Amino acid sequence: MARNIKILFLAAEADPFVKVGGLGDVAGSLPGALRALSPHLDVRLCIPLHRSLNLDGFEVKPFASYAVPRGGHQMPARVFETNYSGTPVYLIDGSPISSAQSVYSSDMSSDGEKYTFFSLAALELLQHVHWQPNIIHANDWHTAPTVYALHQRLSDPHYAWIKSIMEIHNLPYMGGGASPFLNAYGLHPSSNPYLPDWARHFPLPMALAATDAIVAVSPAYARELLTPEFGCGLQDFLRTRANVLCGILNGIDLVSWNPKSDPALSKNYDVDELASRIDNKASLQSTLGLPADPGIPLLAMVTRMDPQKGVDIVVEGLRQMADQSWQAIFLGTGIPYLEEAVRALQEEFPDRVRAEIRYDAHLSRQVYAGTDILLMPSRYEPCGLAQMIAMRYGCVPLGRATGGLNDSIHAYTDTLNGTGFLFDDASAEAFANCLREALLVYNDKERWSKLQRNGMSQDFSWENAAKQYSDLYRQLLNNKDVERFR
Ligand code: ADP
Repeated sequence: MARNIKILFLAAEADPFVKVGGLGDVAGSLPGALRALSPHLDVRLCIPLHRSLNLDGFEVKPFASYAVPRGGHQMPARVFETNYSGTPVYLIDGSPISSAQSVYSSDMSSDGEKYTFFSLAALELLQHVHWQPNIIHANDWHTAPTVYALHQRLSDPHYAWIKSIMEIHNLPYMGGGASPFLNAYGLHPSSNPYLPDWARHFPLPMALAATDAIVAVSPAYARELLTPEFGCGLQDFLRTRANVLCGILNGIDLVSWNPKSDPALSKNYDVDELASRIDNKASLQSTLGLPADPGIPLLAMVTRMDPQKGVDIVVEGLRQMADQSWQAIFLGTGIPYLEEAVRALQEEFPDRVRAEIRYDAHLSRQVYAGTDILLMPSRYEPCGLAQMIAMRYGCVPLGRATGGLNDSIHAYTDTLNGTGFLFDDASAEAFANCLREALLVYNDKERWSKLQRNGMSQDFSWENAAKQYSDLYRQLLNNKDVERFR
């Protein structure tokens, strides 16, 4: 009989409570997918009770109160419990969390305090709940101190048998600057001799040195992490941990992301009703005040405006393609100079470009359903969900051949088994060349609809990913090395 496994899943954000980016999708979906996969997987989610948390429709009950030691002080923590589709959810509150204005801040004096407190409060919670996890599954630097602190407490019988997983969604965000807060809460730098000096007091590398298993969010990203280009200075250290490193491609929520039932769309459709996409295109063009033209290729980005995502590459690349016919929608917010670059492009091409500078989940769905090509020229892309969502909606992705884009997009070839377009160099020229090729195919309706249908037929279900996580949990508890890069 399969063994029962209890997993505490820690994250800074989880949809539908709060979502800033892909991590919110993952933490919102994976725990439920694991539970659905097997009654033997008892997964519970733990997130901070951010001010902006959406708790409408959830029954929230006080669950525990205790203190987290900080120097000579005791920081009060209050935990509330709720349930999301069968998954128990713990919401941790305390002054470092309630005083923060947003989920993430560029000010480390806010985030350093908040996430160190949250991480330690989550570990402390285990003293107050009659439920002992076999595995703590932490995500990104915000929950890395839990893994590090757990490692330091392995002589405590309360924690001795708990294994840990540190999952990397985005390596460059290591929590640099959090060191004073780690110290204040009694977490001292790592003594791992393979860590570069600078990394010994960064939460993520500290946890990567201490954890039992490291997961990257795609097999390609797991391989890339070991190279100077993507390893962010940790590649040599990560090579010493390669026997516990693997990559698992994330999935998407196929119920929520379903063009057949998505209420945000003007017209629902599935793979056999692709012609209906034209209605969604027309209403998107009309909503955004773009000239109504069903034949013109409609391009889009739905993204955080961050140098990682290559927004600047698209802006420059489209300028180079001014002689061709296209329209482009940019939906996103982020770094002001990138927002400005997109606005400038709209001013330059007022009847072709729309700069929608905001987070708008409703509009994002209409964009996936109404545009022809999703642009993702990311400089690096650990996994990327937008390209999978796009394929599900019959919108063809065009991305850079890196990380999860490489693992999820099959590059178009004449044999017609492709699902999108990939290019290598992170340059406007390479992007423009690839887009030119894509537009040639776009003009051949038969080949284009084959590409769309191929994409819509891919299996990006969480079930697929959950099976791999389940195997990993079992390997870990059987003290086996993780299977690399599957
Ligand atoms: P990352 O996690 O690096 O931000 P992903 O592609 O993994 O990128 O996930 C991004 C998710 O956030 C997708 O679900 C995408 O639709 C959504 N998203 C990004 N920007 C916006 C926006 N401005 N409005 C609505 N949804 C957005």
